[in-house]
Amino acid sequence: MNRHRTRVLGDRTLAPETLMMGYGYDPALSEGAIKAPLFQASTFVFKSAEDGKRFFEVAYGLRQRDPDEALGLIYSRINNPNLEILEDRLAVWDKADKALVFSSGMAAISTAMLALVRPGDVILYTAPAYGGTEYLFDRILPRYGVKAISVPAAEGAAALDKAMIAAAAEARTTGGRLAAVYLETPANPTNQLVDIARAVAGAKALDQAEPPAVVVDNTFLGPLWQSPLELGADLVLYSLTKYVGGHSDLIAGGCMGGADLMARVGEMRTICGTTADPHTAWLLLRSLETLHIRMERAQDNALILADRLRADPRVSAVLTAGGPDASPEQQAIFDAQCKGSGSTFSLELPGGEAEAFRMLNALRLFKLAVSLGGAESLASHPSSMTHSDYTPEAKARSGIGDNLVRLSVGIENVDDLWADLDQALSAI
Ligand SMILES: *Cc1c(COP(=O)(O)O)cnc(C)c1O
Repeated sequence: MNRHRTRVLGDRTLAPETLMMGYGYDPALSEGAIKAPLFQASTFVFKSAEDGKRFFEVAYGLRQRDPDEALGLIYSRINNPNLEILEDRLAVWDKADKALVFSSGMAAISTAMLALVRPGDVILYTAPAYGGTEYLFDRILPRYGVKAISVPAAEGAAALDKAMIAAAAEARTTGGRLAAVYLETPANPTNQLVDIARAVAGAKALDQAEPPAVVVDNTFLGPLWQSPLELGADLVLYSLTKYVGGHSDLIAGGCMGGADLMARVGEMRTICGTTADPHTAWLLLRSLETLHIRMERAQDNALILADRLRADPRVSAVLTAGGPDASPEQQAIFDAQCKGSGSTFSLELPGGEAEAFRMLNALRLFKLAVSLGGAESLASHPSSMTHSDYTPEAKARSGIGDNLVRLSVGIENVDDLWADLDQALSAI
């Protein structure tokens, strides 16, 4: 397909928010429709048998695509116009060579990790990571001879450096490699930051022929407020279910990176069949048009609410990425790596589960639900919900107390949101 991929106007490079309206789509190919229609089709008709042969040769990696060769679509598990337009637009935000979309965030994470590891390998990850990710690493990958080791994000950069060296040494004893260093930053629900650039430098300095891939789950701050590929990471992963989808009405995931690594991820996606469906891709194209204003407004609201909560004697602590309560080390990472603090943060209440539950049950506008990044505000209790399978020791190491409430702030009127928090805090 020939699609519009112009990123400049004269000598001006266009900003991502401008490109979200039309990049990668040519109305002339779809009866002039201003928006890409939904290509709800499982398979695509070849003009000739020779075309079909050429398309498969490239899709199956039997040969490289010639630089000027026009390729066509084959089958919607492999490619589809809605998917390809979406992938081109997602790659713009993270300045990636290539993006791929998946049927969920977990589909993106598991497919990317399967593309990176072999039996005997070790992966190292910063904890806490998303619950499904930890399950994949600790309980599923070991069945295939891959060992996962975790290091608490809260222990800081020196601990991560040491853990990388130890993990690479351990991999050598099983004839494998440290295949990946997997970071989730900020960590959920504490907003503890991991220094991406330092992890990249540590990974490159290891005594190993091929350095481990540095993989970052950027769901919490990306793509507006943190750009891991610019900091040297090899792959960036998203649950597009969250901010990018942004309306709590779809499940999808994304993976972005350099061409070589993404070819391996693409092969695994084609065979595992973890591709997103065309309708989800179409919804995400619509979401991308308003991504920047939703994330900006949600962050403005979150900053105002965090300030008011910090000043409130009914609250003991407010855990944002960076900000007044951050340690000097954390603030330095924030300044170097984040363009904003996003709109998901936690607060600690005096007391424990009973006090937290009284507040949560009293909320009227904030909906009591897990997930984050939607247009509407949500509240949850990590200790008894998303992180309930943690041992008490693991909760303590990661700073997840029974008195912790996580908020995902939406784009409602901020004074209405404050009125809700204010009355719910009074109910404690
Ligand atoms: C939600 C989430 C995931 C999983 O995404 P799904 O779309 O639910 O599969 C992974 N990582 C983070 C940080 C998340 O918040």
